[in-house]
Amino acid sequence: MTQITVGEVAWEDASTGGNQQSDFMRLSEGDNKGRVLSNPQQYAIHWVVDETGQNRKVNCAVHECPVCLRGQDTDRPTARWMIKFLNRKEGRVQLLEIGSQVLQGIKELVKSSDWGPVTEYDINIRRGPKNAKPLYTVMPLRHSPLTNDEKQSLVDFNERVDILRFVTPPTPEVVAEKLGWDSSTASAKSVDNSFKSSTTGSTKKSAIDFDF
Ligand SMILES: [Zn+2]
Repeated sequence: MTQITVGEVAWEDASTGGNQQSDFMRLSEGDNKGRVLSNPQQYAIHWVVDETGQNRKVNCAVHECPVCLRGQDTDRPTARWMIKFLNRKEGRVQLLEIGSQVLQGIKELVKSSDWGPVTEYDINIRRGPKNAKPLYTVMPLRHSPLTNDEKQSLVDFNERVDILRFVTPPTPEVVAEKLGWDSSTASAKSVDNSFKSSTTGSTKKSAIDFDF
């Protein structure tokens, strides 16, 4: 059931506060069934090879982002969306990061007259084998109202987990630190707060909204 990590973990993997490893869902190959429970929150990520040669994912700082500023071909930010998802396999609400393929699949359902608001039916996000194109397909399952227990688990989840923590752009210093880059160059350029204060804790609408 719930995966519990014990022993030594990487700093960035160590859970803090009320957020647990089990609050995040990963799409595995095959079926991933569940219910979308929120509008998508849009943010941007980078894939960067760090100093130890590992390919790492970091959130884009957007403003004065050291990866964007480096400007190599592979440094372009990629859009991602975070949604709340009732994972049927785990029987719990989790945060799920999706890319444009899954987003488009869900949007098509939302726009279709047969399906409509995505909270009213389960979907199956099927992940194909490695290198499959498309890698993800989104299929609707059946219309069924959420039970009171399911609604309550969303309320509990919302009380415990702040989705904005994971989609708010980090400071340039944090990005540099995660990659083991010299943060003094980043901090020298940092005028990050103007951007941050306009998004942190606000009810800013994501660029793409479901009719929810
Ligand atoms: Zn960036």
